Amino acid sequence: FLQAAANEPDDPRYLDGSLWGLTNLGLAGGLAGADIDAATAWEMTQGESDVVVAVIDGGVDISHPDLAPNVWRNPGEVAGNGIDDDANGFIDDVYGWDFRDRNSSVFDAGDNSHGTQVAGIIAGRGDNGIGVTGVSWNSRIMPLKFIGSGGGFTADAIAAINYMTMMRQRGVNIRVANLSWGSTDSSRFLERAITDAGAAGILVVASAGNSGVDQDGASSPNYPSGFAAENILAVAATDNRDRLATDSNYGLTRVDLGAPGVGILSTVPGRGYAVNSGTSFATPFVSGVAALAVSVNPNLTVTELRQAIIAGVEPVPSLSSKTASGGRLNAA
Ligand code: CA
Repeated sequence: FLQAAANEPDDPRYLDGSLWGLTNLGLAGGLAGADIDAATAWEMTQGESDVVVAVIDGGVDISHPDLAPNVWRNPGEVAGNGIDDDANGFIDDVYGWDFRDRNSSVFDAGDNSHGTQVAGIIAGRGDNGIGVTGVSWNSRIMPLKFIGSGGGFTADAIAAINYMTMMRQRGVNIRVANLSWGSTDSSRFLERAITDAGAAGILVVASAGNSGVDQDGASSPNYPSGFAAENILAVAATDNRDRLATDSNYGLTRVDLGAPGVGILSTVPGRGYAVNSGTSFATPFVSGVAALAVSVNPNLTVTELRQAIIAGVEPVPSLSSKTASGGRLNAA
């Protein structure tokens, strides 16, 4: 068990060592120190509340007590009045939008837990005495839903990305987008939406996928992680001994870095917590670190932010010939 230092949060599942990706105590067969050095980074920042991370996914349970304080709220919109108060084309988009069902409810009963887990890894509320902490304790989550049961449509994903870019251009400080999904659809319209987001100042962090395949030689690579767009970081998953996850995709040019993605505890709908694995859960560690970085230096460009994350990795043998950076994410 950890005794919380001044720079560490009091969240019980952090202190009991469950959040090995942040601080690995060597429990459950893990290798102590095989983590993103979160505690060292938290000496510099615990994440600013004016930094917004878009979670483009299957929706987020915004009532979860470990997420609710960190959910972005649209200052220009009056809840439930049936009016598009901020004249952005979306009625009552108070907490984001559902691009699948085309309404303002960013979480519906029956939605899976995927987006809620992703959100908790990025910015589960830190130091609030309950549950978990995210990488960035205080940054804001903007839930943009396009996935439902059975998956999602590329056209809806594009609409979600374009909404995000529009809101950035309207002054919302969205610096990072988390895309923990993919397919073999190499839609040039999807790539265009991502490059437009980059031009507006948004880093896009994308999961490499879970087929265990070398993306550089693959006949049908995973997208959007496989796009050449310069504002994308493609993320593989590592375990608690810094091994590449068995199912994780990789690739010397198409995958940029690894991050913890095996046995990751996070928030789930209904006030709960659960463990899950996959590159979907490695990706939000990178998004959270990006939020910390712009909390320290708000003036970072997308290129500088991306380069800082790449340059800051911790080299590990399992990723040396499998990713562009050769290393695992390090927040410090
Ligand atoms: Ca609106």
